[in-house]
Amino acid sequence: MIFLDNASTTKIFDEVNDTIFNINANDYFNPSALYEPSMKVLQKVKEAKKTIAKILNCNEDNIIFTSGATESNNTAIIGSLTSKKDAEYIFSSGEHPSVYAVANSLKSMGKIVKFLTLNSNGTVDSEELKKMLSPNTHFISIMTVSNETGAINDIENLVKIVKDYNSNIIFHTDAVQAFGKIALNVKQSGVDLLTISGHKFHGPKGVGALYVKNPNKLKPLLLGGGQQNGFRSGTENTSGYIGMALAGEIANNNLQTNFKKIFEFRKYVADEVLKNVGNVIINEAKKNSPYILSLSFKNLRGEVLLHLLEQKGILIGIGSACSSKKAENRVLSQMIDKSYVLGSIRISFSSFNTMEEIKTATKILIETVQELKKKIGVM
Ligand code: PLP
Repeated sequence: MIFLDNASTTKIFDEVNDTIFNINANDYFNPSALYEPSMKVLQKVKEAKKTIAKILNCNEDNIIFTSGATESNNTAIIGSLTSKKDAEYIFSSGEHPSVYAVANSLKSMGKIVKFLTLNSNGTVDSEELKKMLSPNTHFISIMTVSNETGAINDIENLVKIVKDYNSNIIFHTDAVQAFGKIALNVKQSGVDLLTISGHKFHGPKGVGALYVKNPNKLKPLLLGGGQQNGFRSGTENTSGYIGMALAGEIANNNLQTNFKKIFEFRKYVADEVLKNVGNVIINEAKKNSPYILSLSFKNLRGEVLLHLLEQKGILIGIGSACSSKKAENRVLSQMIDKSYVLGSIRISFSSFNTMEEIKTATKILIETVQELKKKIGVM
């Protein structure tokens, strides 16, 4: 089996699995208890925060551990709500459902919500953002890397535009497809809130984090025992947090090497597909993550291709795993002609892939597309 759906999730690192096992087997104590072994676990959780903080260039007090990016995104948005009636909330229309659905729920609550359209390359337009800003703008959420296409938004520039206009506007970015893959620096970019998810960088599932520049300005989403300084109640998922931090450290230590390797994977598949298949679009931005390759084949069905490839031992995606059951593709339908949208597939790589796998998968992909085209009589 060749796994090329790494934007949906990744294989956990062996070292991380071992660490999780050891914590659960030996250091299973509740970090809130008052005896010595609990303090030791609490210390390990603090170290895990320090590790994530160091990667992002902030302090451990700026990190809240969560149950994943969905919770981090919900906390960022809901925790930033203001009671001011005329406050405006801006979202990119390319956001993952864990942001987009919250934006729509704010709208149905009567909040003023505005959506930035996407360019044909999948990024937001800074000029449109400039025009959308108003004295009432309160909160903005724009993702760092698109989970559908890998398009990279220039967050540093967008934050600068926003903060030059009004430094009180809260800027959140969902960096789930960026963390552990491209360098992030919250001091440099100036974001107020940033979301990550453990299972996207070979850590455990159901664990994430939220960077918060001003913790005292964010209202907690979960109330209860007051864990994590009251910012996120609930007994800590100690092994998950510690495992996620280790995965982040390993991924971050290999950032450049992996980037180069994965860049070559993506280039190989893209070049070969363009050489051998007609009527195909590569959905990409000038600055694109090499980890994601989004291809759209005219008049084909991505879902059919996915299943044909699965029969041949290759696992790919057809866009966001969370929205793959919905017929419409909100992101791609803003970027390309209708006749291409349904024929879209997403190939996403990880450092566990080898060039040999990529070559085999590419050959099979091209053959499969050609066979399917012949069968249904399209060019
Ligand atoms: N944001 C982005 C960009 C994603 O790709 C995903 C997962 O697909 C999520 C958020 C949700 O992450 P989690 O599974 O940790 O809730």
